[in-house]
Amino acid sequence: MSRKRRAPGWPAAPEPLPSPVPDNHTHLESVLHVREEPGPDTLDSHLDLAASVGVPRMVQVGCDLDAVAWTDAALRADAGEPDATGPVPMSTGRGALLGAIAIHPNEAVLHAGIHEVAPDGLDPDPLPRHDLGLDDALAEVERVARANPRVRAIGETGLDFFRAGPRGRAVQREAFRAQIALAKELGLAMQIHDRDAHDEVVDILRRDGAPERTVFHCFSGGPALAEVCAAHGWFASFAGPVTFGANDDLRAALRVLPVELVMVETDAPYLTPHPARGKPNAPYLIPLTVRRIAEELGQDLDVLCRTLAGTTERVYGTWSN
Ligand SMILES: [Zn+2]
Repeated sequence: MSRKRRAPGWPAAPEPLPSPVPDNHTHLESVLHVREEPGPDTLDSHLDLAASVGVPRMVQVGCDLDAVAWTDAALRADAGEPDATGPVPMSTGRGALLGAIAIHPNEAVLHAGIHEVAPDGLDPDPLPRHDLGLDDALAEVERVARANPRVRAIGETGLDFFRAGPRGRAVQREAFRAQIALAKELGLAMQIHDRDAHDEVVDILRRDGAPERTVFHCFSGGPALAEVCAAHGWFASFAGPVTFGANDDLRAALRVLPVELVMVETDAPYLTPHPARGKPNAPYLIPLTVRRIAEELGQDLDVLCRTLAGTTERVYGTWSN
Protein backbone atom coordinates (compact mmCIF):
# COMPACT_ATOMS: atom_id res chain seq x y z
CA MET A 1 0.00 0.00 0.00
CA SER A 2 1.52 3.33 0.96
CA ARG A 3 5.27 3.31 0.50
CA LYS A 4 5.77 6.90 1.58
CA ARG A 5 8.58 7.48 4.03
CA ARG A 6 7.44 7.90 7.58
CA ALA A 7 7.41 11.45 8.77
CA PRO A 8 9.20 11.61 12.10
CA GLY A 9 7.10 11.65 15.23
CA TRP A 10 3.65 10.49 16.21
CA PRO A 11 0.61 12.12 14.63
CA ALA A 12 -0.95 15.00 16.61
CA ALA A 13 -3.75 13.97 18.97
CA PRO A 14 -7.15 14.41 17.30
CA GLU A 15 -10.01 16.37 18.80
CA PRO A 16 -11.50 14.34 21.70
CA LEU A 17 -14.66 12.31 21.19
CA PRO A 18 -17.79 13.69 22.91
CA SER A 19 -18.26 10.43 24.83
CA PRO A 20 -15.93 7.48 25.41
CA VAL A 21 -15.42 4.74 22.82
CA PRO A 22 -13.32 1.62 23.43
CA ASP A 23 -10.74 0.47 20.90
CA ASN A 24 -11.85 -3.14 20.51
CA HIS A 25 -8.66 -4.43 18.85
CA THR A 26 -5.15 -3.18 19.44
CA HIS A 27 -1.67 -4.66 19.85
CA LEU A 28 -0.04 -2.60 22.58
CA GLU A 29 3.04 -4.81 22.83
CA SER A 30 3.78 -3.93 19.20
CA VAL A 31 2.83 -0.27 19.67
CA LEU A 32 5.57 -0.11 22.32
CA HIS A 33 8.11 -1.22 19.72
CA VAL A 34 7.45 1.91 17.69
CA ARG A 35 10.22 4.33 18.40
CA GLU A 36 9.20 7.70 17.11
CA GLU A 37 10.31 10.90 18.73
CA PRO A 38 8.76 12.82 20.26
CA GLY A 39 5.71 11.03 21.58
CA PRO A 40 4.34 8.41 23.94
CA ASP A 41 6.92 5.74 24.71
CA THR A 42 5.52 3.88 27.73
CA LEU A 43 2.35 1.89 28.27
CA ASP A 44 1.09 4.50 30.75
CA SER A 45 1.74 7.35 28.33
CA HIS A 46 -0.24 5.54 25.62
CA LEU A 47 -3.13 4.82 27.98
CA ASP A 48 -3.12 8.42 29.26
CA LEU A 49 -3.02 9.88 25.77
CA ALA A 50 -5.85 7.63 24.58
CA ALA A 51 -7.97 8.47 27.66
CA SER A 52 -7.41 12.19 27.01
CA VAL A 53 -9.21 11.94 23.63
CA GLY A 54 -12.12 9.78 24.84
CA VAL A 55 -10.58 6.30 24.51
CA PRO A 56 -10.20 5.14 28.13
CA ARG A 57 -10.67 1.41 27.42
CA MET A 58 -9.34 -1.09 24.92
CA VAL A 59 -9.10 -4.77 24.06
CA GLN A 60 -5.45 -5.84 23.96
CA VAL A 61 -4.90 -8.62 21.42
CA GLY A 62 -2.10 -11.15 21.87
CA CYS A 63 -2.07 -13.58 18.96
CA ASP A 64 1.34 -15.22 19.17
CA LEU A 65 2.64 -17.10 22.21
CA ASP A 66 4.95 -14.26 23.30
CA ALA A 67 2.12 -11.76 22.98
CA VAL A 68 -0.27 -14.11 24.80
CA ALA A 69 2.07 -14.09 27.82
CA TRP A 70 2.52 -10.31 27.54
CA THR A 71 -1.26 -9.80 27.36
CA ASP A 72 -1.91 -12.07 30.35
CA ALA A 73 0.61 -10.16 32.49
CA ALA A 74 -0.57 -6.72 31.34
CA LEU A 75 -4.22 -7.57 32.07
CA ARG A 76 -3.31 -8.73 35.57
CA ALA A 77 -1.32 -5.59 36.36
CA ASP A 78 -3.99 -3.35 34.83
CA ALA A 79 -6.67 -5.08 36.91
CA GLY A 80 -4.63 -4.40 40.06
CA GLU A 81 -4.12 -8.04 40.95
CA PRO A 82 -2.04 -8.28 44.09
CA ASP A 83 1.52 -9.34 43.22
CA ALA A 84 0.92 -8.85 39.52
CA THR A 85 4.02 -7.66 37.82
CA GLY A 86 3.39 -6.22 34.41
CA PRO A 87 5.49 -7.18 31.43
CA VAL A 88 6.58 -3.57 31.19
CA PRO A 89 6.37 -0.91 33.87
CA MET A 90 2.81 0.37 34.16
CA SER A 91 0.58 1.75 36.86
CA THR A 92 -1.65 -0.96 38.27
CA GLY A 93 -5.37 -1.03 38.87
CA ARG A 94 -6.34 1.31 36.05
CA GLY A 95 -8.90 -1.14 34.61
CA ALA A 96 -8.39 0.02 31.03
CA LEU A 97 -7.72 -3.34 29.45
CA LEU A 98 -9.58 -6.47 28.46
CA GLY A 99 -7.88 -9.12 26.37
CA ALA A 100 -8.23 -11.34 23.34
CA ILE A 101 -5.77 -14.17 22.81
CA ALA A 102 -5.24 -16.77 20.10
CA ILE A 103 -2.81 -18.36 17.73
CA HIS A 104 -2.95 -16.17 14.61
CA PRO A 105 -3.39 -18.12 11.34
CA ASN A 106 0.12 -17.24 10.20
CA GLU A 107 1.50 -18.35 13.58
CA ALA A 108 -0.41 -21.65 13.36
CA VAL A 109 1.45 -22.47 10.15
CA LEU A 110 4.82 -21.93 11.85
CA HIS A 111 3.86 -24.00 14.92
CA ALA A 112 2.91 -26.81 12.52
CA GLY A 113 6.45 -26.70 11.11
CA ILE A 114 5.34 -25.83 7.60
CA HIS A 115 7.81 -23.95 5.51
CA GLU A 116 6.18 -22.70 2.33
CA VAL A 117 6.87 -19.49 0.49
CA ALA A 118 3.54 -17.65 0.54
CA PRO A 119 1.74 -16.29 -2.54
CA ASP A 120 2.94 -12.83 -1.50
CA GLY A 121 6.55 -14.05 -1.78
CA LEU A 122 7.19 -13.94 1.96
CA ASP A 123 9.52 -16.65 3.19
CA PRO A 124 8.52 -17.43 6.78
CA ASP A 125 11.06 -17.05 9.50
CA PRO A 126 10.39 -19.32 12.51
CA LEU A 127 11.24 -17.98 15.99
CA PRO A 128 12.08 -19.91 19.16
CA ARG A 129 8.41 -19.91 20.23
CA HIS A 130 7.54 -21.94 17.13
CA ASP A 131 9.46 -24.94 18.52
CA LEU A 132 6.21 -25.73 20.33
CA GLY A 133 3.81 -27.79 18.21
CA LEU A 134 0.41 -26.43 17.19
CA ASP A 135 -1.59 -28.55 19.65
CA ASP A 136 0.59 -27.42 22.55
CA ALA A 137 0.38 -23.79 21.43
CA LEU A 138 -3.42 -24.00 21.34
CA ALA A 139 -3.42 -25.67 24.75
CA GLU A 140 -1.46 -22.72 26.13
CA VAL A 141 -4.08 -20.29 24.79
CA GLU A 142 -6.77 -22.36 26.49
CA ARG A 143 -4.84 -22.43 29.78
CA VAL A 144 -4.40 -18.64 29.85
CA ALA A 145 -7.99 -17.98 28.74
CA ARG A 146 -9.37 -20.21 31.51
CA ALA A 147 -7.18 -18.65 34.18
CA ASN A 148 -7.62 -14.95 33.44
CA PRO A 149 -11.13 -13.47 33.74
CA ARG A 150 -10.03 -10.33 31.87
CA VAL A 151 -9.55 -12.44 28.72
CA ARG A 152 -12.92 -12.03 27.00
CA ALA A 153 -12.28 -13.21 23.46
CA ILE A 154 -10.42 -15.75 21.39
CA GLY A 155 -8.75 -13.80 18.60
CA GLU A 156 -7.48 -13.09 16.21
CA THR A 157 -8.06 -16.45 14.54
CA GLY A 158 -9.21 -17.26 11.03
CA LEU A 159 -7.71 -17.61 7.58
CA ASP A 160 -4.99 -15.63 5.82
CA PHE A 161 -4.81 -16.82 2.23
CA PHE A 162 -2.59 -13.87 1.34
CA ARG A 163 0.18 -15.36 3.44
CA ALA A 164 -0.33 -19.12 3.08
CA GLY A 165 0.24 -21.77 0.44
CA PRO A 166 -1.86 -24.95 0.20
CA ARG A 167 -0.34 -26.77 3.16
CA GLY A 168 -0.47 -23.65 5.31
CA ARG A 169 -4.11 -23.12 4.43
CA ALA A 170 -4.97 -26.62 5.63
CA VAL A 171 -3.29 -25.90 8.97
CA GLN A 172 -5.06 -22.55 9.25
CA ARG A 173 -8.43 -24.25 8.79
CA GLU A 174 -7.59 -26.74 11.53
CA ALA A 175 -6.42 -24.02 13.96
CA PHE A 176 -9.45 -21.84 13.16
CA ARG A 177 -11.90 -24.68 13.81
CA ALA A 178 -10.16 -25.60 17.09
CA GLN A 179 -10.38 -21.99 18.27
CA ILE A 180 -14.05 -21.64 17.25
CA ALA A 181 -14.70 -24.69 19.45
CA LEU A 182 -12.63 -23.16 22.27
CA ALA A 183 -14.49 -19.83 22.17
CA LYS A 184 -17.80 -21.67 22.35
CA GLU A 185 -16.66 -23.97 25.13
CA LEU A 186 -15.46 -21.04 27.26
CA GLY A 187 -18.39 -18.77 26.33
CA LEU A 188 -16.03 -16.13 24.96
CA ALA A 189 -16.39 -13.78 22.00
CA MET A 190 -14.30 -14.42 18.90
CA GLN A 191 -12.30 -12.00 16.75
CA ILE A 192 -11.79 -13.20 13.20
CA HIS A 193 -8.83 -12.47 10.97
CA ASP A 194 -10.02 -12.84 7.37
CA ARG A 195 -7.56 -11.91 4.66
CA ASP A 196 -8.53 -12.84 1.10
CA ALA A 197 -10.64 -15.71 2.48
CA HIS A 198 -14.20 -14.36 2.92
CA ASP A 199 -16.04 -17.32 1.39
CA GLU A 200 -14.15 -19.97 3.27
CA VAL A 201 -14.35 -18.15 6.61
CA VAL A 202 -18.12 -17.86 6.23
CA ASP A 203 -18.37 -21.49 5.15
CA ILE A 204 -16.49 -22.74 8.22
CA LEU A 205 -18.55 -20.52 10.55
CA ARG A 206 -21.77 -21.87 9.05
CA ARG A 207 -20.71 -25.49 9.20
CA ASP A 208 -19.20 -25.44 12.69
CA GLY A 209 -21.56 -22.85 14.13
CA ALA A 210 -20.13 -19.44 15.07
CA PRO A 211 -19.66 -18.37 18.70
CA GLU A 212 -22.56 -16.27 19.91
CA ARG A 213 -20.49 -13.07 19.70
CA THR A 214 -18.38 -13.17 16.53
CA VAL A 215 -16.50 -10.10 15.29
CA PHE A 216 -14.90 -9.70 11.87
CA HIS A 217 -11.84 -7.76 13.01
CA CYS A 218 -10.61 -5.14 10.50
CA PHE A 219 -13.60 -5.92 8.31
CA SER A 220 -12.32 -6.05 4.73
CA GLY A 221 -15.35 -7.22 2.76
CA GLY A 222 -17.81 -5.36 0.59
CA PRO A 223 -21.61 -5.11 0.79
CA ALA A 224 -22.00 -8.85 0.02
CA LEU A 225 -20.07 -9.94 3.12
CA ALA A 226 -21.84 -7.22 5.13
CA GLU A 227 -25.19 -8.78 4.12
CA VAL A 228 -23.97 -12.16 5.35
CA CYS A 229 -22.85 -10.64 8.67
CA ALA A 230 -26.18 -8.84 9.06
CA ALA A 231 -28.11 -12.06 8.39
CA HIS A 232 -26.13 -13.97 11.06
CA GLY A 233 -25.80 -11.18 13.61
CA TRP A 234 -22.01 -11.14 13.24
CA PHE A 235 -20.23 -7.91 14.14
CA ALA A 236 -18.02 -5.97 11.73
CA SER A 237 -15.20 -3.95 13.26
CA PHE A 238 -13.87 -1.13 11.09
CA ALA A 239 -10.28 0.09 11.26
CA GLY A 240 -8.30 2.85 9.53
CA PRO A 241 -8.95 1.60 5.96
CA VAL A 242 -12.57 2.83 6.14
CA THR A 243 -11.08 6.37 6.09
CA PHE A 244 -8.95 5.79 2.97
CA GLY A 245 -10.15 7.57 -0.19
CA ALA A 246 -10.12 4.49 -2.43
CA ASN A 247 -12.16 2.22 -0.14
CA ASP A 248 -15.68 3.00 -1.33
CA ASP A 249 -16.54 -0.68 -1.09
CA LEU A 250 -15.82 -0.72 2.65
CA ARG A 251 -18.00 2.33 3.18
CA ALA A 252 -20.75 0.70 1.12
CA ALA A 253 -20.49 -2.32 3.45
CA LEU A 254 -20.76 0.00 6.44
CA ARG A 255 -24.03 1.42 5.10
CA VAL A 256 -25.47 -2.08 4.63
CA LEU A 257 -24.89 -3.12 8.26
CA PRO A 258 -27.35 -2.41 11.05
CA VAL A 259 -25.52 0.16 13.20
CA GLU A 260 -25.73 -2.11 16.25
CA LEU A 261 -23.40 -4.59 14.48
CA VAL A 262 -20.78 -1.93 13.72
CA MET A 263 -17.64 -1.72 15.86
CA VAL A 264 -14.42 0.28 15.67
CA GLU A 265 -10.76 -0.52 16.28
CA THR A 266 -7.26 0.72 15.49
CA ASP A 267 -5.39 -2.59 14.96
CA ALA A 268 -2.48 -0.40 16.11
CA PRO A 269 0.37 -0.07 15.30
CA TYR A 270 -0.93 -0.91 11.81
CA LEU A 271 -3.55 0.70 9.55
CA THR A 272 -3.23 4.32 10.68
CA PRO A 273 -6.36 6.29 9.67
CA HIS A 274 -6.39 9.24 7.27
CA PRO A 275 -4.96 11.92 7.46
CA ALA A 276 -2.21 10.36 9.62
CA ARG A 277 -1.66 7.45 7.21
CA GLY A 278 2.03 6.64 6.78
CA LYS A 279 2.73 7.39 10.45
CA PRO A 280 2.50 4.87 13.28
CA ASN A 281 -0.87 4.06 14.83
CA ALA A 282 -1.98 3.87 18.48
CA PRO A 283 -5.35 3.80 20.26
CA TYR A 284 -5.44 7.63 20.63
CA LEU A 285 -6.03 7.91 16.87
CA ILE A 286 -9.36 6.05 16.84
CA PRO A 287 -11.38 9.32 16.89
CA LEU A 288 -10.32 9.85 13.24
CA THR A 289 -12.03 6.59 12.29
CA VAL A 290 -15.10 7.18 14.48
CA ARG A 291 -15.65 10.62 12.92
CA ARG A 292 -15.40 9.21 9.40
CA ILE A 293 -17.96 6.50 10.26
CA ALA A 294 -20.35 9.09 11.74
CA GLU A 295 -20.03 11.17 8.57
CA GLU A 296 -20.64 8.16 6.33
CA LEU A 297 -23.72 7.08 8.28
CA GLY A 298 -25.02 10.64 8.68
CA GLN A 299 -25.15 10.00 12.44
CA ASP A 300 -24.72 12.43 15.28
CA LEU A 301 -21.20 11.82 16.64
CA ASP A 302 -22.22 11.62 20.30
CA VAL A 303 -25.04 9.17 19.54
CA LEU A 304 -22.68 7.01 17.49
CA CYS A 305 -20.06 7.01 20.28
CA ARG A 306 -22.65 5.78 22.78
CA THR A 307 -23.88 3.12 20.39
CA LEU A 308 -20.33 1.88 19.73
CA ALA A 309 -19.52 1.78 23.45
CA GLY A 310 -22.72 -0.15 24.20
CA THR A 311 -22.06 -2.66 21.43
CA THR A 312 -18.49 -3.22 22.58
CA GLU A 313 -19.61 -3.98 26.15
CA ARG A 314 -22.29 -6.33 24.86
CA VAL A 315 -19.62 -8.27 23.00
CA TYR A 316 -16.85 -8.40 25.62
CA GLY A 317 -18.62 -7.60 28.88
CA THR A 318 -17.84 -4.77 31.21
CA TRP A 319 -14.40 -3.33 31.99
CA SER A 320 -15.31 -2.71 35.62
CA ASN A 321 -14.59 -5.68 37.85
ZN1 LIG B 1 -4.73 -7.32 14.73
